[in-house]
Amino acid sequence: MRKKTQLIHGGVSRDPYTGAVSIPIYQASTFKQDGVGNFKYEYARTGNPTREALEQLIADLEGGARGFAFASGMAAITATVQLFRSGDHLLVTDDVYGGTFRVMDKIFSRFGIEVSFVDTSDPETVRQAIRPETRAIFVETPTNPLLKVTDLAAISGIAKENGLKVIVDNTFSTPYWQNPIEHGADIVLHSATKYLGGHSDVVAGLVVAKDEQLGEELHFVQNSTGGVLAPHDSWLLIRGIKTLGIRMEEIEQNTAQVVRFLTEHEAVGKVYYPGLTDHPGHDVHQKQAGGFGGMVSFTVESQEKALSLLEKVRYFTLAESLGAVESLISIPALMTHASIPVERRHELGIEDGLVRISVGLEDPLDLIEDLEQAMATSEIHV
Ligand SMILES: *Cc1c(COP(=O)(O)O)cnc(C)c1O
Repeated sequence: MRKKTQLIHGGVSRDPYTGAVSIPIYQASTFKQDGVGNFKYEYARTGNPTREALEQLIADLEGGARGFAFASGMAAITATVQLFRSGDHLLVTDDVYGGTFRVMDKIFSRFGIEVSFVDTSDPETVRQAIRPETRAIFVETPTNPLLKVTDLAAISGIAKENGLKVIVDNTFSTPYWQNPIEHGADIVLHSATKYLGGHSDVVAGLVVAKDEQLGEELHFVQNSTGGVLAPHDSWLLIRGIKTLGIRMEEIEQNTAQVVRFLTEHEAVGKVYYPGLTDHPGHDVHQKQAGGFGGMVSFTVESQEKALSLLEKVRYFTLAESLGAVESLISIPALMTHASIPVERRHELGIEDGLVRISVGLEDPLDLIEDLEQAMATSEIHV
């Protein structure tokens, strides 16, 4: 089955009980047993048919054995890290999503799980950071907001040699463009709040395990800790995923046009986009993913200029999040990455005048005109 077909017919594509073409929202917390212990579903934290349809769908899309749906991307990441124990050490991509940094640095540190943040775009750095107690490498590619790219096959090779698990946050590329399990990953996770939902109306997280054994362990954590996704939100995600392919294809075209405009604009300094041939991760990304996605970051002269640009745009919505039908704009240093200490932010290259956009499905000419007028007026005011 090809990807676009799988988005619609993967998982449980119609209700086995009624034939309904859209999986019903099974708004039920418990299920009648035909005698003690004789049941298909028991209690909805353990399993719910609507959530299960979504979980099978994401497992199919990522080419894994089992899928799991959580109440947010952070709940998905938390459950995944709960596979490990006190004394274990993890290697994590250095410019990882701010919330991932925070949960590792401030929460899991309380439970004795040690984390080193390393530049995973350089496999040698990763190899050298491995300690006897290292258990896994947690990779985000491309990253947020500098779109740094990690070579998944190279990292998986190093992990295999050292008996480590590879966990990939695939939020930015989506399963439409990139399937980390094909490149050797053991666990793939998503903030489904972003492209998978796609309409800025649901907060959710998904995890896929490569094999049954890891799947069993993850199900044990999911059922024990209970951060499951509700039936209605599961249904919203299934609905969003049906159009993922067509959205990602269109976003790819729109982004290419916006990036061309930005690279030619005199008020723009650097443009970070893996689709640019001079982007350091261009070749690696092209090798492991089918598209470059809709996330672009660029610098303007100062934070004042960035703030002025944000005030003047009409079609780009000033908001956190990404991956929706609406184009969004943000200043990472003040918003998504505010929880990262300032020295560390500068170390990572997240400048004060860095602007991040998530290109949506508006007409790209309107998006370009919008950026153009916002940058023009901001110059007059200086
Ligand atoms: C948003 C995001 C998360 C966290 O997901 P939530 O659904 O907001 O909890 C994790 N990783 C990446 C890359 C994200 O963009």
